[in-house]
Amino acid sequence: MIGLMKRIDDIARAEKATRITGVSVWLGAFSHMSAEHFTEHFEQAAAGTIAEGATLDIAVSDDTAHANAQDILLESVEVET
Ligand SMILES: [Zn+2]
Repeated sequence: MIGLMKRIDDIARAEKATRITGVSVWLGAFSHMSAEHFTEHFEQAAAGTIAEGATLDIAVSDDTAHANAQDILLESVEVET
């Protein structure tokens, strides 16, 4: 989660964002994260940052054979500049 928030922050900085409005993630089948649990963690991590209130688009994979089945992938970040 810390790594993910860092990457979101890096993208926001690179795009000189004033606000992060949306975040899309993909949760691997073995990532041990449900959409609800991810949302909880994201909201905690984003509180008081420019990502607070961002809309989450969460895809939950059930493909246990996927090469990234253990991972949480950041698919896209939408920002306001
Ligand atoms: Zn947790």
